[in-house]
Amino acid sequence: MAKELILIIEDESRIANVLEAYLKAAGYKTEYANNGKYGLELWRAAKPDLILLDLMLPEIDGIELTKIIRKESEIPIIMITAKTEEIDKLIGLELGADDYITKPFSPREVVARVKAVLRRSNGQNLKRHYQLGQLSIDLNAIEAKCVDEVLQLSPTQFKLLAFLAASPDYAFSRAELRQSSKDSFVDERTIDAHIKNLRKRMGECGQKLETVRGVGYRLRS
Ligand code: CA
Repeated sequence: MAKELILIIEDESRIANVLEAYLKAAGYKTEYANNGKYGLELWRAAKPDLILLDLMLPEIDGIELTKIIRKESEIPIIMITAKTEEIDKLIGLELGADDYITKPFSPREVVARVKAVLRRSNGQNLKRHYQLGQLSIDLNAIEAKCVDEVLQLSPTQFKLLAFLAASPDYAFSRAELRQSSKDSFVDERTIDAHIKNLRKRMGECGQKLETVRGVGYRLRS
């Protein structure tokens, strides 16, 4: 499969450089624009697969840019904002961004979100199903099975499992896993408890859900 191209539109070059380095290390191609106007030109010229878009930008800001792009395209957009309060405002605007990340962020988290959003958008017609050994996960049916036996999982556990299975062998931090569930009430201890239960199920199905010391967890392929 061809490498997916990520367009970064961000006026702080230090942040853009870090994002480019991490995305390239994760196997993506990148393009970079340092203002909204150039970003719009690059989007038209380079035809990226996903846009990482800073909210506060010179020339054309992130909100205006999203409006322009959404008139022509359904390309996945992840908005980067400096303040948590801005997210509520953005959601209120129903701009059509696919996800939001607040500054300061960890580059690893950004890469995980990019992967998740790309999978989600590609998956609309393609991948709604993961197979790892005897374990199969069906995102349409919201069902995980070991061979033919349906695993009894809570909704949070299913979301966690689907998130882990979408990037097998990737070590996720607890913070990343917390965000995967989108339930703000899920704290890190709750994650540990869900993981414990999931690990037992995975073990019964011949899959390894490993603890990565000092980081978090990963599901082996
Ligand atoms: Ca900015």
